[in-house]
Amino acid sequence: MESRTSTSSGTQAAIPVTVIPGDGVGPEIVRSAMRIIDAAGVKIAWEEAEAGAEVFRRGDSSGVPQATRDSIERTRVVLKGPLETPVGFGEKSANVTLRKLFETYANVRPARELPGVPTRYSGEGLDMIIVRENIEDLYAGIEHMQTPDVGQGLKVITRKGSEKIIRYAFELARREGRSKVTCATKANIMKLTEGLFKRVFEEMAPEYPEITAEHLIIDNVAHQLAKNPAQFDIIVTTNLNGDIISDLASGLVGGLGFASSGNYGDDIAIFEAVHGSAPKYAGKDVINPTALILSSVMMLRYLGQDEAAASVEDAVLYTLEEGRAVTQDLARQTGGDVEHATSTTGFTDQVIANLGRHPSSVPVRARTVDRGLAPRPGWSYAPERYAAMKRELVGVDVMIETDLPVEQLGDDLAGLAGEKLELSMVESRGTKVYPSIGLATDHVRWYRGRFVARAGAVVTEDDLVALLGRIAARHRWTEFVRLQSFDGELAFTKAQGE
Ligand code: NAP
Repeated sequence: MESRTSTSSGTQAAIPVTVIPGDGVGPEIVRSAMRIIDAAGVKIAWEEAEAGAEVFRRGDSSGVPQATRDSIERTRVVLKGPLETPVGFGEKSANVTLRKLFETYANVRPARELPGVPTRYSGEGLDMIIVRENIEDLYAGIEHMQTPDVGQGLKVITRKGSEKIIRYAFELARREGRSKVTCATKANIMKLTEGLFKRVFEEMAPEYPEITAEHLIIDNVAHQLAKNPAQFDIIVTTNLNGDIISDLASGLVGGLGFASSGNYGDDIAIFEAVHGSAPKYAGKDVINPTALILSSVMMLRYLGQDEAAASVEDAVLYTLEEGRAVTQDLARQTGGDVEHATSTTGFTDQVIANLGRHPSSVPVRARTVDRGLAPRPGWSYAPERYAAMKRELVGVDVMIETDLPVEQLGDDLAGLAGEKLELSMVESRGTKVYPSIGLATDHVRWYRGRFVARAGAVVTEDDLVALLGRIAARHRWTEFVRLQSFDGELAFTKAQGE
């Protein structure tokens, strides 16, 4: 389908925005947000574009057709409904594709107490923002079946990606006058990936002396979020952690029906509800459109339409506070009358009717949620410093699929090591099993042999290639990974028991 353009509120100085209705309940909530923006008097030149299920069905395995990409290239701003993700093998999520294609590296998800939406935490004044890295981590989607029965995914964390999102979080805190940024990682276990993110956070924190910077382990963050969520202000974290805790945070303040989000890149942004296409409610006019309306408030701020943004936000908060229009999800949560709950259209009408009204119970700062980041400070990422590092090749890890008993495999690999290398261990799923350390680790037909340089030996690429040749002649190898040191520091982790 070609992109179609329609203009709301006349044609003068209309702001171009790509709108993707999306799947399931998407078209209903997108229509709701568009009507409200129109009623608030913002002139938008909507370029309607498609992505998601129908596109996949037509055989476009990206889920995002070229016409949609072209539209986003032009407008640099997107309001989108949820997109269905095919499950299992094959196609990637069109949502993730969109975020990656346009390098929207900052996923910003506010979670704050809303009037008229009672929760276990009502009255505590929750007002936090989860800032989630949006490109890297396990979402790089680099997965391989190493054997027919062993899957492996690569967790990719880069210094540059970490700097960008951490800088974003601190700048957001500064701009909003927030006092604390919590970095949430699993650095205690994943020292070279989550650990890198934590180190970058600790390096950058002193640039923001007025902001309290703390690091918490992600599992403790989950615990603290359930126990005392009001302690959090901004949480910055890696992609998978952020995916999970931002949904958790949504649950604290009323559920997915209220959870808004923005995906920001350097000069591009995509606004969407946190929730998915909720297929069982599609076409029934019952879904709560608040999440996408609040996402469109973030969009209006990004577009510099502060007055309209405040007006729409106030109208939504007033509508919730007033409690006359109650959608099914809220009625269910509050033990209300689900059967006679307000429809999506009815809720939208009520918000439009309430434009110009102000809620009485919402603290002012909590209403200045998000804004684009411009101008942006320069990144301190400096590739030269890595080029200057002294690198040494100190060995190699070889993954092997085999039915041999591990002692036999270990003895054989030790014999293949050659003059410059020696077998230091064989491990199974991260635990050393050869030479045996006496533990009853289950074996899964997939091992890693670690070869390291013998004392005084200088290992070359040729040595590694020759080793691989010897191994390949006798075993089914699945992966071959260099072991290196950078400026004398080992650049790989040890196995349990190594
Ligand atoms: P979902 O669509 O978010 O729906 C899960 C449940 O959350 C719904 O059944 C409903 O709960 C509640 N819910 C979600 N949105 C709501 C709203 N606006 N108002 C009231 N209740 C709401 O999650 P899913 O069923 O796991 O995913 C469906 C599809 O969406 C999948 O293909 C998934 O990949 C995709 N998805 C897309 C995005 C995106 O586009 N960004 C995000 C997440 C998922 P009750 O059943 O309790 O009423």
